[in-house]
Amino acid sequence: MDDFVAISALQHLAFCPRQFALIHLEQAWEENRFTAEGRILHERVDSGLAEQRRGTRFERGVMLESQQYRIRGKMDLLEIELGDPAQFFPVEYKRGKPKVEDWDRIQLCAQALCLEEMRQSRVTEGALWYWEIRRRENIAITDELREVTIAAINEAHLILKEGLTPQPTANAKRCRACSLVNLCEPETFRKDVSRKYMEEMFNT
Ligand code: SF4
Repeated sequence: MDDFVAISALQHLAFCPRQFALIHLEQAWEENRFTAEGRILHERVDSGLAEQRRGTRFERGVMLESQQYRIRGKMDLLEIELGDPAQFFPVEYKRGKPKVEDWDRIQLCAQALCLEEMRQSRVTEGALWYWEIRRRENIAITDELREVTIAAINEAHLILKEGLTPQPTANAKRCRACSLVNLCEPETFRKDVSRKYMEEMFNT
């Protein structure tokens, strides 16, 4: 096994580093309605062939890799505006709705980083297509988004290298939407941490 991180794993990391570790370090996985719907959606969009319409080429299920960031994965759709130079535009399909947090944007930006390395071209924009509301959102690949994405990539590598599963997220609301809540047992671990803290405080 090499030290590459799956691009799709970055959304788990951004959502909760413990969730990332449970799935990608401990190989724990529990499918629920949301993960099943997401998987079926990606199977549907990945199955198409390349096509070309009015100066734009559409390639589906494109394999991606970055040697610099040690990440790899598969993108749903790559739009290429043909020209000199050609413009590359990653498109990722999502089951749900747009989110305030950067989870989906991080995944898209990681795809852009791979494309830049593989096609030697600057990617300035991509898009997220949300199935539930049938809406496409264009996303600028800004310096800020690149920084957040590279930080997530680095954190993912560190967790895998150290082999340590982080504590539950402090944002307990996320646990209610988490497919791994039964395997993770966040409340048990939170109680353990606070008990340990009290013991250390009174033993010093
Ligand atoms: S249940 Fe909460 S702490 Fe556990 S992996 Fe999910 S979000 Fe993270």
